[in-house]
Amino acid sequence: MSTIRFKALEKAIERCAVKIEEPVARRSHLFGTNVFNDEAMRQSMTKDAYKGVQEAIQFGKKIDRKTADQVAAAMKEWAIAKGATHYTHWFQPLTGATAEKHDAFFETYGDGKAMEKFDGGQLVQQEPDASSFPNGGIRNTFEARGYTAWDPTSPAFIYETTLCIPTIFVAYTGEALDNKTPLLKALHAVDQAATEVCQYFDKKVSKVIGTLGWEQEYFLIDSAFTDARPDLKLTGRTLLGHSPAKGQQLDDHYFGSISDRVMSFMREMEIEALKLGIPVKTRHNEVAPNQFELAPIFEEINLAVDHNALLMDVMQKVAKRHNFSVLFHEKPFAGINGSGKHNNWSLATDTGVNLLSPGQTPMNNLQFLAFFINTIKAVQDNEELLRSAIASAGNDHRLGANEAPPAIISVFIGSQLTKVLDELENVTQGKLSPEEKTELKLNVVGKIPEILLDNTDRNRTSPFAFTGNKFEFRAVGSSANCAGAMTVLNVIVAKQLKEFKISVDELIEKGLKKDEAIFNILREYIKVSKKIRFEGDGYSDAWQEEAAKRGLSNNKTTPKALEAIVKPENIKLFEEMNIMSPVELKARYEIQIEEYIKKIQIESRLLGDIAQNHIIPIAIKYQNLLTTNVKDMKDIFGKDFENIAGEQLALIQKISGHISFISKKTDEMIETRKVANKIEDIEKRAHAYCTEVKPFFDEIREHCDKLEMMVDDELWPLSKYREMLFTR
Ligand code: ADP
Ligand code: MG
Repeated sequence: MSTIRFKALEKAIERCAVKIEEPVARRSHLFGTNVFNDEAMRQSMTKDAYKGVQEAIQFGKKIDRKTADQVAAAMKEWAIAKGATHYTHWFQPLTGATAEKHDAFFETYGDGKAMEKFDGGQLVQQEPDASSFPNGGIRNTFEARGYTAWDPTSPAFIYETTLCIPTIFVAYTGEALDNKTPLLKALHAVDQAATEVCQYFDKKVSKVIGTLGWEQEYFLIDSAFTDARPDLKLTGRTLLGHSPAKGQQLDDHYFGSISDRVMSFMREMEIEALKLGIPVKTRHNEVAPNQFELAPIFEEINLAVDHNALLMDVMQKVAKRHNFSVLFHEKPFAGINGSGKHNNWSLATDTGVNLLSPGQTPMNNLQFLAFFINTIKAVQDNEELLRSAIASAGNDHRLGANEAPPAIISVFIGSQLTKVLDELENVTQGKLSPEEKTELKLNVVGKIPEILLDNTDRNRTSPFAFTGNKFEFRAVGSSANCAGAMTVLNVIVAKQLKEFKISVDELIEKGLKKDEAIFNILREYIKVSKKIRFEGDGYSDAWQEEAAKRGLSNNKTTPKALEAIVKPENIKLFEEMNIMSPVELKARYEIQIEEYIKKIQIESRLLGDIAQNHIIPIAIKYQNLLTTNVKDMKDIFGKDFENIAGEQLALIQKISGHISFISKKTDEMIETRKVANKIEDIEKRAHAYCTEVKPFFDEIREHCDKLEMMVDDELWPLSKYREMLFTR
């Protein structure tokens, strides 16, 4: 009897009997209580210090040492009053996770006395010994110094008993070693470019912020199962396991009622989130069994990115208290849906206008169209770069697997806006007659409904869909840090808006009126960015063919997709837009390739271990039972036994077949891996892992899964899909 598996199942079943406790307080009262937000600052700081921080937040002004000391003092008092004992610079290195190193406020001075200390210097800059974070060769280990610097645009918060100060993380030589630094630069670039374009429509606009509303999908399974499955524990996904008789085919989990045990987890997690100022709002069951989704109200992008990274951490901690494992992997279970993280994106002005929302007047709508069309063109001109921003070993399982968009980037806009763009495309070139202008303003631009009725959300197969007042980038992986996708999206839009401004100004110089010039350029953009627009079924084979004809990229694997990062035009783009130097970009490329290699390598090792140490021995054990049984039958039935034991004999043979196949293929996989490991060039090594090593996974798995169906259930060592997915 496989005791580990049955003990896990027993434990999980016992834990399902959970009673929900009543929530303690009104949620709005909890919101932001652990955040050093505007209100906390106002209450605890001098007027000057408050003004200094606000100017840094709003306009990026530098904070002088005196102000920093005042802020630090206020922050320290506020944090200690709330029970904090330590502080940390909280940052996001290129591992994709968050990092922190806690220091106590406590310090000693003379005669064995002690006090709480935290000053401006400690707030503004720290030098963690961070030599073990990935740096893509930027830092030699002998001078592995990097420093973290305060990002005042994301407020400090208390997590458990630690004051966390969001920071960037850069090398001593200045190169970015994190996700936040390039993101902040991209947001600055899009602010500048978009604000200039807004000036055509409204002179009062002085700042544009990017907005992000992410939707996080995840699985929850009892931690006893993760403990009993080495693959889940070490890779975050099941490398084998037969599909259960019932999966998601009845669609009965989607939006279904949430079990008490899961609800209890969700409540606690939401309360923690609200205290940290994360405006969580929506929760529901997802399509696959034991899969869920959570979405907050959208926020400014830098803050939203921090909040997603922080919440992923909170979720893991709270889950532990409920004996759950949260799986953020893009494809934890074969045969049922994996998880994504939709990134809803838009731009908003400091005058309160959503630039991707059609307005009430033709002028508002022209502004909307300008941003809408420029975004489409930016995506078209940079589709491969955008694809690279969502590439990861985990996401390769999802993209194109008929549960998420394909690896082809395209834009969906819905029938109403398609009609508007078609009409705009036919506008006369150059100067417009007064009649034409009136016609355009009243009947084309003026007619865009404020609320786009054909709720465009219906096409779930598009990777980049316009959903009424924002674009929804749906191809982002569930485990990703949103900063990657958001940096690229905002840079390409910033670049595009800059070009737009230059082109419009040129036409104005040539004597065209402002709106004529805008119409002219938009018309050209509509013409040249048709190939990226696709309204049909993104999951269909026909689209694969059509996209190839259109010349769109279809980079199905991570090693292929990542290549776009270091193409000359993209190196130039990042350099020109002041986001990353060629050195920084190449370092990132290398880090991502290496991460891919390591992930496939770990999966391959583990699959070999499980096949050889768990599956084959159990199959042999069961086979022994069968052979003993057959021998006994022979003793009893004598020469008739072959007629009677035919099935058993056939089963013994089948099992032998699977055992020898698994054994042979595992050996071959190990040999192939050895060859791949010897390849010096990491790009070539990544491709070898992708095309030579990885294909063994499915082959080996298929035979292991067949054995799962043959071997006595009581002997099978690994928790089965039906146990992990339906115990709740
Ligand atoms: P649903 O998709 O469930 O119908 P919505 O379309 O209203 O709901 O919102 C989906 C997600 O889009 C939410 O996470 C929300 O915060 C986000 N969102 C809504 N408006 C914007 C915006 N202007 N910018 C960025 N994200 C937004
Ligand atoms: Mg959505």
